[in-house]
Amino acid sequence: MRISLVSEHASPLAALGGVDAGGQNVHVAELSRALAQRGHAVTVYTRRDDPGLPGRVRSAAGLDIVHVDAGPPRAVPKDQLLPFMPDFARGILADWGARPPEVVHGHFWMSGLACLDAAAQCPPTRRPVVVQTFHALGTVKRRHQGGEDTSPAERIRLETAVGRGADRIIATCSDEVFELTALGIPGTRVSIAPCGVDLDLFSPSGPAAPRGRTHRIVSVGRLVPRKGMDLVIRALRILADGGYDVELVLVGGPGNAARLEEDPEARRLKALAADLGVEDRVVFAGQVGREEMPPVLRSADAVVCAPWYEPFGIVPLEAMACGVPVVAAAVGGLVDTVVDGRTGRHVPPQDPGAIAGAVGEILDSPDWGAELGRNGYRRVRARYSWNRIAADTEKAYLLTLRSSRLTDEAQGLPLPRPLESTGGRAL
Ligand code: UDP
Repeated sequence: MRISLVSEHASPLAALGGVDAGGQNVHVAELSRALAQRGHAVTVYTRRDDPGLPGRVRSAAGLDIVHVDAGPPRAVPKDQLLPFMPDFARGILADWGARPPEVVHGHFWMSGLACLDAAAQCPPTRRPVVVQTFHALGTVKRRHQGGEDTSPAERIRLETAVGRGADRIIATCSDEVFELTALGIPGTRVSIAPCGVDLDLFSPSGPAAPRGRTHRIVSVGRLVPRKGMDLVIRALRILADGGYDVELVLVGGPGNAARLEEDPEARRLKALAADLGVEDRVVFAGQVGREEMPPVLRSADAVVCAPWYEPFGIVPLEAMACGVPVVAAAVGGLVDTVVDGRTGRHVPPQDPGAIAGAVGEILDSPDWGAELGRNGYRRVRARYSWNRIAADTEKAYLLTLRSSRLTDEAQGLPLPRPLESTGGRAL
């Protein structure tokens, strides 16, 4: 198939850990690579956020990345990108020229708008099917962040329109399916394909970063309040009071140390650690590169993920792939990925006492911790390779193409070329 993946703010080439660069970047990079490896012709469209970027990059993985001119060619917070979506759609359409793909797959709601816009401008017989992965939903964000939510006012209305207008939605977890149903998107148009993990990069074998104390917990994420790093600092205080010689490594935030000093969330967290008297136990690692991440994860007795809510959450998969138990808030995708008592512990959201209790159990029983780690490793190998996720995504594409062909036929439109070989017979 010829497939366009559209990801307006999250480039597969970006460095990770900044406010707007995390799981979606990983997802688009790995999914596009795995689809290309499965023999598809894949192009990724993302917004040009640097004037020095070439228009088109051929990646080593055999796919193209196109930087579309839409808005100023510099970093712009994602919540300010909506006005540039018509230009973004125009750029995609121009690149398609006379040969649109068979499938255009939007990532995040604004990309979905651009996909629907570009597809609608193709001639009916060449119109690609539109598949959408939201990565995060405005309704959920508003519920948790209320007045702090900086999304454009139109987000929920437009996101719902994308959900209803796309030919198929790919949800990344079962919790998202419930949220989509609440938006009036019928389950018959929803497939599930979770995020995956790079099993070559993340594995139990390989070096572990050195520790400064007997025990270590690690928490990884963009430095935004909803990731709940403050809750983990509070849990650390409780563990220290319980007599554990334990440190906490917080990964994420800007790459350079001076910028980390100025980062408002890093400052808030440092002040909290100082207030609680645990500043000597917290290491702010800042942005950690992909290759450096496995040694950091391997150095932990447990990786803690304490978000208020989590559309999917790739970090637990990365920890499990490294054979490390995960203590996770039982929210969103973490309900599907972490199995309580088998690969880690589920704790209620926003509950430092429960986090400390679960980590303490693991620190008290290293053999049990090792067993949780082994089970996690087996679970991700069985279910979360990117090749498997790409195969699930491919199935969703084929299903969508088949039902769109049936609709076209019913409407008397000439059929596009057949999906599968017909052995020379006309369809
Ligand atoms: N990440 C990274 N370096 C950092 C911080 C994060 O490589 O300094 C990666 C992390 O390993 C994971 C992704 O960014 O692959 C975060 O994805 P997740 O789904 O957990 O959270 P999101 O950012 O989508 O909210």
